[in-house]
Amino acid sequence: MRILVTGGAGFIGSHFARIAAAERITVLDRLTYAADLANLDGVACDVVEGDICDAGLLSRVVPGHDLVVNFAAESHVDRSIEGAAEFVRTNVLGVQALMRACLDAGTPKVVHVSTDEVYGSIESGSWREDAPLRPRSPYAASKAGGDLIALADATTHGLPVVITRCGNTYGPRQYPEKIIPLFVTNLLAGRKLPLYGDGGNIREWIHVDDHCRAIQLVAERGVPGEVYHVAGSAQLTNVELTERLLAALGADWDMVERVADRKGHDRRYSLDDTKLRALGYRPRVGWEEGLAETVRWYTDNPSWWKDKTPTG
Ligand code: NAD
Repeated sequence: MRILVTGGAGFIGSHFARIAAAERITVLDRLTYAADLANLDGVACDVVEGDICDAGLLSRVVPGHDLVVNFAAESHVDRSIEGAAEFVRTNVLGVQALMRACLDAGTPKVVHVSTDEVYGSIESGSWREDAPLRPRSPYAASKAGGDLIALADATTHGLPVVITRCGNTYGPRQYPEKIIPLFVTNLLAGRKLPLYGDGGNIREWIHVDDHCRAIQLVAERGVPGEVYHVAGSAQLTNVELTERLLAALGADWDMVERVADRKGHDRRYSLDDTKLRALGYRPRVGWEEGLAETVRWYTDNPSWWKDKTPTG
């Protein structure tokens, strides 16, 4: 099987390419600040440097693939608050161009990777796939826009596209602007941890390996035009997460610096993944084990992160 992995030089896309490496993989990536070709070290694949907004390039690259999995995105909420233009460009227009190219090429299956953030914030309970989209950050709004374009192509043109919406993903090779790699690398470098607001925001955490296995399952068994949730296996406030990371690295709470809250900071996300479990999905990586392995990876690989900064 030939698989096109867009955004495959980033955090989750490169892990997907690694676990799917028995297939023939092409990675298409614009190589933004968030990409690192070292993420693909040891992965047998062809790499094309290019933009999912480039229709001409897509018309040459997409044909001949049996599966296209779209990870390409601007992915950091804080950057979308600073400026949303790149987010709308890649996450909406790029998705439109990629879906069009898949339609033209007659791609048999497409998976578009999305996020729980499209639903906004939920005080209690969990969202099902038919919950209304109420994005609150420019990042989430742009992802919701891309999702709607993909779903419209499924309805209007019969594009065999399936959408996954996942919770907060962690693991090796995540750019150190997101909370877990930022806090771990700050502690390793002797820097303080900037904790937003009261730290009471709740997130569901999933290891990148479970996220990618869910995507593989949905690629095999998901029904075109449908959305599937990929829920995390641990729910923690950011204070609880910070305490775990301090303990893992033998540091004290005096390494924490409270900073002004993120604008419009969503309080809680939670997904109901009954539909995915009906396809046979079960998470494999326990939170404690996954977090310990992740902390170890950043500890052992300073050359990967030392020149990467939260501001790119
Ligand atoms: P990432 O920022 O690490 O990687 C994104 C990749 O996309 C980078 O390699 C970048 O160079 C590439 N890219 C950006 N714009 C591009 C363009 N115009 N054309 C081609 N390539 C482009 O992101 P990630 O954390 O690996 O996330 C991958 C996907 O999963 C995103 O769609 C994101 O919305 C979604 N997601 C992420 C999480 C999470 O916690 N990280 C959770 C749920 C969903």
